[in-house]
Amino acid sequence: MINIFLMKIEYTHSEQTRKRAENRYAILRTLQTVQPMKRTEVADYCQIRKSSVTSLVEELMEKKWIRLEDIERPRSPLHMNENYWQIVSLQLHPNKIIAAHIDLQGTPNNVQTITDLDLSTRENYIESILKVTKKFVKSSKNLFGIAVSTPGMVDPETGNCISALNLPDFENIPIKDILSREYSCPIVIENDVRASLYSNILLKNRSNKIDSALFVEITSGVGSTLMVNGAPYPGAHGTAGEIGHLVVGTEGRLCRCGQKDCLETYTSIPAICREIKKQLNIDLKSGYEIAQEAKNNADIVKVLDEACSHLAAPLASMIFLTDPEVMILGNQSEDFYKLMTPGLLNSIAKYQNGPAVRKLEVEISSEYSSLRGVAALLMDKIFITP
Ligand SMILES: [Zn+2]
Repeated sequence: MINIFLMKIEYTHSEQTRKRAENRYAILRTLQTVQPMKRTEVADYCQIRKSSVTSLVEELMEKKWIRLEDIERPRSPLHMNENYWQIVSLQLHPNKIIAAHIDLQGTPNNVQTITDLDLSTRENYIESILKVTKKFVKSSKNLFGIAVSTPGMVDPETGNCISALNLPDFENIPIKDILSREYSCPIVIENDVRASLYSNILLKNRSNKIDSALFVEITSGVGSTLMVNGAPYPGAHGTAGEIGHLVVGTEGRLCRCGQKDCLETYTSIPAICREIKKQLNIDLKSGYEIAQEAKNNADIVKVLDEACSHLAAPLASMIFLTDPEVMILGNQSEDFYKLMTPGLLNSIAKYQNGPAVRKLEVEISSEYSSLRGVAALLMDKIFITP
């Protein structure tokens, strides 16, 4: 079943053009998640007439977006043309930029974590974005587009980063315009947490369409985002689900935002590592290291459970308000999430153990979900354009 929540077509187009664009989109999204497929299978799966499938497949092969399994056999099954086009995808962090080439299947290739960049000021950060983009565009085979995920508030329509607390003086940065001056290809900018949600919804083959989800990440901060009624829910000002700076404690822990006792002073990876150092005198730096150390030290789990108890209140509120089908945990080591999930669910259940919690499925998302998700969003926008 494919999720098609991002599909929006301008009403200025004729009914016929709109229908063709919808069918083309359905074929591409289907092949992205359930390939290979024969034309008749595509027609049945997407409920499109076989003659329409034949004509659209011809168009898509001409664009080199899809390919035959065996070029010598015109009736052989269809695949996305994963080796032809590449999307340059960047994920912005306070102290590094992660970049990759993403193919039309959503698979990351050539992933690089680039740390030798001057990210100290707004101007230098922007220069670094251009430098990394240039390097990856140069090594692309055929450039499909450029996709950038960033922390903070983003307007995906304009491609402006409205505000990112973790990046230097990042207020109203027109990232899309800056890149558009250098590159004429399609460009998409999105919030990194929403991008992760997209990768888990758009690039995953599921037996049922997902209508509602809660995505949560524990990284250098704490982020979450919601999907409601089959669509992402950014809220009126693009900040729905931004729980990292909710006040959840009483110890007076100072947060980088200037407030005291924000969630990220208790439950982010740096906060958990500080607490492990304080209570157990062990130096750890990452979610992966926490998970490894916990294999031989049960006290680590106690510190982790305590940290997660602060996350439980805002998550319980969101779960009871929106009753999601699935909670997706992402952008962190899989072992770390396996370790913290039982304690987190126990803490959430203390607020109320109703069906919304008992029936909630928990998924751990794949690696590089922001990089993949923002690329999936770019593909969606191109696939649906008539
Ligand atoms: Zn804060």
